[in-house]
Amino acid sequence: MGSHAGGSEPTLDARMRAGIRDIPDFPSPGILFRDITPLLGDGALFRDVTAAMAAPFADTDVTHVAGIESRGFVLAAPVAQSLGAGFIPIRKQGKLPWKRVGREYGLEYGTDRLEIHEDACPGDCRVLIVDDVLATGGTARASAELVRMVGGTVVGFSFLIALGALGGESRLAPDRVDVLLRY
Ligand code: AMP
Repeated sequence: MGSHAGGSEPTLDARMRAGIRDIPDFPSPGILFRDITPLLGDGALFRDVTAAMAAPFADTDVTHVAGIESRGFVLAAPVAQSLGAGFIPIRKQGKLPWKRVGREYGLEYGTDRLEIHEDACPGDCRVLIVDDVLATGGTARASAELVRMVGGTVVGFSFLIALGALGGESRLAPDRVDVLLRY
């Protein structure tokens, strides 16, 4: 008799939903924050989620995975490892130490500026952009513009979560967008 006799294994979708905590009114009133720290704290789930984010891009010759500070870093690094790709940090203003280019963008809550090192994309680099949550798409779009400004080709985007009502996916068209979980 197997350890799961009488019941089926929960799907990845169900495990992910169980690993995401909804926090109302954070960081400001009216925002329902999707907190992925329980998911990250579960080793098997963290591994399975990042493998599933990488899998659709296995045959796309990705040379680099760009992670958007800061939760994007946590997901992008294992995605890069599983694709055999390098990692590029896209950071908030003033954090990168070398020569950089920047771009202003609008958030679901406020505005900000992202930066990338000007030598982040050497040669013909093909970049997959990774973040935890796609909301309005402003952050991801600014990230794609930064990658292109430093000479990279954007292969697509891989998100753990998309908040469908905010229209982020259409804002990133015609680029390829892969999402594991939609709310
Ligand atoms: P946007 O630019 O509107 O697509 O916002 C995406 C960025 O903001 C991502 O880096 C997310 O981590 C963060 N974010 C936006 N909305 C939420 C939310 N409801 N829960 C968690 N993170 C969010």
